[in-house]
Amino acid sequence: MAASIRSRVTVPLTFADGYSTVAEVMTFRGLDDDSEHLLLALGDWEDAVVCAEMGGEAPLVRPHSECLTGDVLGSERCDCGPQLREAVERIADAGGFLLYLRQEGRGIGLYAKLDAYALQDSGLDTYEANVALGHGEDERDYTAVAQMLDAVGVGRIRLLSNNPDKASQLAALGVQVDEQVPTRVHLTDANARYLTAKVEHTGHLIALP
Ligand SMILES: [Zn+2]
Repeated sequence: MAASIRSRVTVPLTFADGYSTVAEVMTFRGLDDDSEHLLLALGDWEDAVVCAEMGGEAPLVRPHSECLTGDVLGSERCDCGPQLREAVERIADAGGFLLYLRQEGRGIGLYAKLDAYALQDSGLDTYEANVALGHGEDERDYTAVAQMLDAVGVGRIRLLSNNPDKASQLAALGVQVDEQVPTRVHLTDANARYLTAKVEHTGHLIALP
């Protein structure tokens, strides 16, 4: 199923540390899961798309799953906020897209994610806690990512992500992943256990000390 661009609007972004850039934010019709996912086109993204069409380097793309606690409130229980901040700058420098996906808590929702935090405080890791709540370890599906990329004419990407599942799902959806570019390690005392679970349980490419 194809999605189409529904609207485009220019949004100037300024982060708490003062970094600023401008995003062309797009909304879509016909996304597979009917969620209000956003595409933020950053930097010289139009040049990056043309370059890829001519056989050059593919645009840098990060599918970022919404994390209200990390992205907005600065929670240190995860590394989402620093990853979002890093990704916007790296994509703006290279030209490409940040896809902001409404998939809170790996797809289980905000309240369930907070319930899972409570279980983690009693010893379960982030994946075990989701399962204990009757959810999958990771319920995210990236069909909408493939649809949004297709709508902006992108079939080939460099994937900014540490998550091997994103790369394999996108490849299965017909997106050519030329390269998987890791994000930096955003380790704190509060998120160490969470990052360790990502590495040990699902093979995330995070170089923990
Ligand atoms: Zn998070």
